[in-house]
Amino acid sequence: MNEVVWTLTKGLLPYFAIMILIILVIGILVKLKIKVKEKTNQAIASIKTNGGICPKCGGKLVMREGKYGTFIGCSNFPKCRYTQK
Ligand SMILES: [Zn+2]
Repeated sequence: MNEVVWTLTKGLLPYFAIMILIILVIGILVKLKIKVKEKTNQAIASIKTNGGICPKCGGKLVMREGKYGTFIGCSNFPKCRYTQK
């Protein structure tokens, strides 16, 4: 009986190894994707706001989270309500 179990286990081992490998690769890919997304978001934010000066009050333009998503607004909000699309 033990021999049968061992033979079965041995036969399945390569499949287990492949499954574990696939899971590891997926995990790494997901992590990389998240990192790339974060970097892209940061890059977009820095490009959009880099040297951005509010034409209304001369304050700095910053990325803001609003009701309808991310937008560029004045850092002097709520004194200045300038926004850029
Ligand atoms: Zn402003």
